[in-house]
Amino acid sequence: MTYNLELVREKFKDLFEYSLDLIYVHDFRGKFLDANKIALEKLGYNREEINNLSFNDLISKDQLTVVFKALTEIRDFGKQITPREYRLKKKNGDFIYVETYGITLKEDGKIFGIFGVARDITKWRLAEQKLKESEERYRHLFDGLPSPVFILDKRGKIFDCNSTTEKIFGYKKDELIGESYLKLHEISADYLPILKKRQEMLQKGETPEPLELQGYKKDGSRVWVNAQTSIVKIGKKTFYQTITQDNTERKKAELKLKESEEKYRAVAEQANDGIVIIQNEVFKYVNPSLCEMTGYTHEELIDNSYKILVHPEVTDEVVDRYKRRIMGEDVLKKYDTLLISKDGKKIDVSVNVSIIMYNGEPANLTIFHSITERKKMEGVLKKSEEKYRLISENANDLIAIVNQKSKFEYINENIHIKILGFSKDDLIGKSTLEFLHPDDINNTIESFKKGFEYGELIDLVRLKDKNGIYHWLEVRGKRFIDQDGEMKILMIARDITERMKAEQQLKENKERLKIILNILPVGVSVIDWETHIIVDINPIAVEMVGASKEQIIGSICHKYICPAERGKCPITDLEQEVDNAERILLTSNGKSIPVLKTVVPFFLDGKKHLLECFIDITERKKTEMLKEKFTEQLEMEVEIKTKELHEIIAQQKLYLEQIVKASQFKTEFMGSMSHELRTPLNAIIGFTDLLLESSYGPVNEDQFDFLKDIKSSGEHLLFMIDQILNISKIEAGELFLRFQEIHLKSHIAQIKSSIQPIYEKKKLEFEIIGLDTDKYIYADPIRLKEIFYNLLTNAIKFTKKGKITLKILEKEDQWEFQVIDTGIGIAKEDFDIIFKEFKRVESPEVIDILGSGLGLPITRKLVYMHGGTISFTSNVGKGSTFVFTIPKNLDQKNQEIEK
Ligand code: ADP
Repeated sequence: MTYNLELVREKFKDLFEYSLDLIYVHDFRGKFLDANKIALEKLGYNREEINNLSFNDLISKDQLTVVFKALTEIRDFGKQITPREYRLKKKNGDFIYVETYGITLKEDGKIFGIFGVARDITKWRLAEQKLKESEERYRHLFDGLPSPVFILDKRGKIFDCNSTTEKIFGYKKDELIGESYLKLHEISADYLPILKKRQEMLQKGETPEPLELQGYKKDGSRVWVNAQTSIVKIGKKTFYQTITQDNTERKKAELKLKESEEKYRAVAEQANDGIVIIQNEVFKYVNPSLCEMTGYTHEELIDNSYKILVHPEVTDEVVDRYKRRIMGEDVLKKYDTLLISKDGKKIDVSVNVSIIMYNGEPANLTIFHSITERKKMEGVLKKSEEKYRLISENANDLIAIVNQKSKFEYINENIHIKILGFSKDDLIGKSTLEFLHPDDINNTIESFKKGFEYGELIDLVRLKDKNGIYHWLEVRGKRFIDQDGEMKILMIARDITERMKAEQQLKENKERLKIILNILPVGVSVIDWETHIIVDINPIAVEMVGASKEQIIGSICHKYICPAERGKCPITDLEQEVDNAERILLTSNGKSIPVLKTVVPFFLDGKKHLLECFIDITERKKTEMLKEKFTEQLEMEVEIKTKELHEIIAQQKLYLEQIVKASQFKTEFMGSMSHELRTPLNAIIGFTDLLLESSYGPVNEDQFDFLKDIKSSGEHLLFMIDQILNISKIEAGELFLRFQEIHLKSHIAQIKSSIQPIYEKKKLEFEIIGLDTDKYIYADPIRLKEIFYNLLTNAIKFTKKGKITLKILEKEDQWEFQVIDTGIGIAKEDFDIIFKEFKRVESPEVIDILGSGLGLPITRKLVYMHGGTISFTSNVGKGSTFVFTIPKNLDQKNQEIEK
């Protein structure tokens, strides 16, 4: 069968018309000549509009270059070599995407147009675009992931990765894609089996645990990552997706922590102190030193209660403190305590506790420092301190520590009290200057200054003791630095008051000696015992020797003073005693003078010397001759005188015996006479009374007056005789007192009533002062009355007007009675005679008054017999006061106590 071209051509026409692709014809200027139905449909034009349609209507300007390139290609080669893609603008403004292919159309060998075929790829293109967009979106997400994500192919090559990888590893994405993932990591051989295993797991669809990997950045620095790998399918292909997490910082921190932990552990392990961590009451950590300190092994302590190390003596306080600390209380962190070792020994430790976090929980970190040595040292120190304190307290010198403010910081109290009377409290904290003699203050300030500057001081000061008396102290000081670094002075002072006094006395003695030597009317020389050199000589001796003092002093004694030669000195060599011996003195011109010499050894300035005293006896020697002559005569005279004296003494003795006899006779005589006189006198008074009472007939007035005179004179005489009798009795020792207790008040009342008529008659007042109701006096009632009576009647007698006072004073040991009058008084010159027997003041006022002159002597004797005293004071014209005392008898006293 033959090919019918015309038929085929007809068919092409149909094909052109009904093709599913867009078919069109256009010239080289881009003007459309023809287009098939679908082309018109797709672009939205109708057939009539074809001739007006050109490329400009369909294609955007930026595509025109592509169009012209294709046109050139078609013209040159007659066909388009590669299909081209355009975006065409539809009549309604929408776009369609087409892929075109064109060939030339020729007529008569001349190209007139292009025949093109375009396929609508809009659907595909849009889908593609969407895909691209979604891909881009995912890419953004992918790249934006904070962790590096790698997509690896089955061989572990990097198929894709996100841009975070660049940040972590420093490589650009391009540099990584296609490379082995392991390039980024340092994988040791140990890892390979692990990796293999993980691969197997992945293949089985299991997800292995994240794997920690160490790697390097592009710049060589280290990174740590955690890689989480899973399987992903892209299309039909299987990939590994590895999401890595940068762990570098955490890892670094961990390493640092580990390092520091190791460091601390090393420190703890090496430390000399015991270190433990206690948590929930058990040891979580103990270091070797603690084991060594306590004798336990590490295993014995770990996870065991901390209490096994606490010494029973301190258990309560330690447990209490532990509990309170764990409760968060702020308890003592540093203190000394006791541990107990495995073998029960006590360990002195100082403890330092702190709370730390251990394995995420609070724990007790405790450091034990052994202080056994320190305690021992403290003991030793205390002992040595004690020793020094003892030394100081037992020293005889004052010891004190003085600071830079010159204040006392320490004193040895006992000695200070002994010497200065001051106790510690009196001195400590006070300035030394307070106690100094005002004249010594400036010097002392100066010497303190020097002491602190040069380290030592020596001073002589006067210090006031507690009674204000100054003591001379010789002070030595030494600077030292105490444990606080402060400069102080240790002072040792000695009381040298006695020495100073002795020195002063010595000085005074020496001066006195010098003065004495100079004024002494005898010659004196001082000679050295050893050398016999004259060391001192007084002016008289100088004069006697006849040389100058300068010549004599320094010479040997036998040159001037003594003729004895060397080696024959009577004192130093011959051991003689020269005491008031007559000797010879040599003068400078060789003469010898007789002298009376005394030589005594004595010490001068601590050296033995001879003190020679001599008197020139030339004159005496001369007179002695004469004297001898008279002596004989004198002796004779003395003998005679002595004889005479003996005779006189014998005579005197005789007289004395006679006197004694006479006195005895007087007493006896007076006694017997009185008796003899009393009897007739009583008769006289008795008969006179009878006459006065007119018992024997009446008497006239004159007779009555005479009789009254006789009676009163008789009575006075009787009184006198009684007095004489009294006194002779006393003198003869015949009067005895009868002591008894006398009720003073009634006794005095009796006396008062007996004298009342007399003082009332004279219109005198009488007052008693100080009479106590119930007092008793121990005395002889008769004699006591007599004493009162004598004194009171005297007072009344010698008082013209006024008052008599009896004053009674009770003293501790005695009674005192005062009889006070306002009478005539006694003149001073008569004071002596008052107590003498028969003596009365010879004044007209007294003479007129009746009296015996015996009252006071008797009174005095009676007072004396009572053991008391009597005295008086008086002023003429004003009055007298007689005072007597009666001692309180021991018996009476006892009775008083009994009462
Ligand atoms: P008489 O009173 O008997 O003369 P006394 O011995 O009692 O003797 O006294 C001696 C003398 O002392 C008195 O004569 C009188 O001169 C003097 N005398 C004694 N008491 C007083 C007195 N109270 N006032 C003045 N003179 C007194």
